[in-house]
Amino acid sequence: MKVGIIGAAGRMGRTLIEAVLANPDTELAVAVDVPGSSLIGADAGELVGQGRLGVTIGDELAALAGDADVFIDFTVPEATARHIEVCRAAGSRLVIGTTGLNDQQLATLRAASEQVAICFAPNYSIGVNLCFKLLETAAAVLGDDVDIEVIEAHHRHKIDAPSGTALRMGEVVAQTLGRDLKECAVYGREGRTGERERATIGFETIRAGDIVGEHTVLFAAEGERVEITHKASSRMSFARGAVRAAVWLGGHERGLFDMQDVLGLAGGSAGWGRG
Ligand code: NAD
Repeated sequence: MKVGIIGAAGRMGRTLIEAVLANPDTELAVAVDVPGSSLIGADAGELVGQGRLGVTIGDELAALAGDADVFIDFTVPEATARHIEVCRAAGSRLVIGTTGLNDQQLATLRAASEQVAICFAPNYSIGVNLCFKLLETAAAVLGDDVDIEVIEAHHRHKIDAPSGTALRMGEVVAQTLGRDLKECAVYGREGRTGERERATIGFETIRAGDIVGEHTVLFAAEGERVEITHKASSRMSFARGAVRAAVWLGGHERGLFDMQDVLGLAGGSAGWGRG
């Protein structure tokens, strides 16, 4: 399968190039990044220390959109919204990893998925997607008898908070418990906050150093607590999952999917856009 990487010069983009090269079912066909980047024109293979591939990093997706079977986009929300339109016009499949999309950008994504196949997930690691399933079970069993907090830590360069994964974890728990996350989320605490309200779901964010990504959901009752934790130690965990999603997406013409679909875990609250 011919794969195109959008945001190829970024932290995830470079790891995705390596993951595409390592997968026997995929071939790197296109690499693009933002116009004006000093890396436009560089060879994608040389960028990741794997020798010359003959795929240069371009800056105009529209001109290259027909050259790959599926694109993988890990960039920024405004750019991703434009890439969705370009891929829709070109009839190209799209795997989206960008986090922090607003409601309007999500609406663009949903509309495009009526014409092309799109996979969108806040986290492509297989372990995190298993955790989404475990959270469903924990929330269903522990129910309204526990206080629920989501704690996440990422590297100092991350530009959105809480992480898309932390929000998805909160949504999975909220949907399982019949709560609306928009109503019950509490983001950080300071000053005289008063006692904790049981039905809230708290989010705490840490930004420091080079932490790749850590998430804990804590279910705390009187006398005991359960913690479900995932720790990513390499971006390759996300990249390998995104490439697996790209290959899987090849079997679909149109529709909106997430990593739960790719892994055959769909059903319940754990998939994106359900509930
Ligand atoms: P980064 O800043 O290192 O890379 C982003 C890249 O996108 C840069 O090279 C930038 O030049 C490029 N870009 C920006 N605008 C562009 C445009 N218009 N066209 C083409 N390229 C453009 O960031 P990163 O750490 O690689 O993260 C990228 C995104 O992926 C973030 O939203 C992050 O939260 C998300 N992310 C998701 C997962 C997941 O599993 N879903 C995992 C890690 C990161």
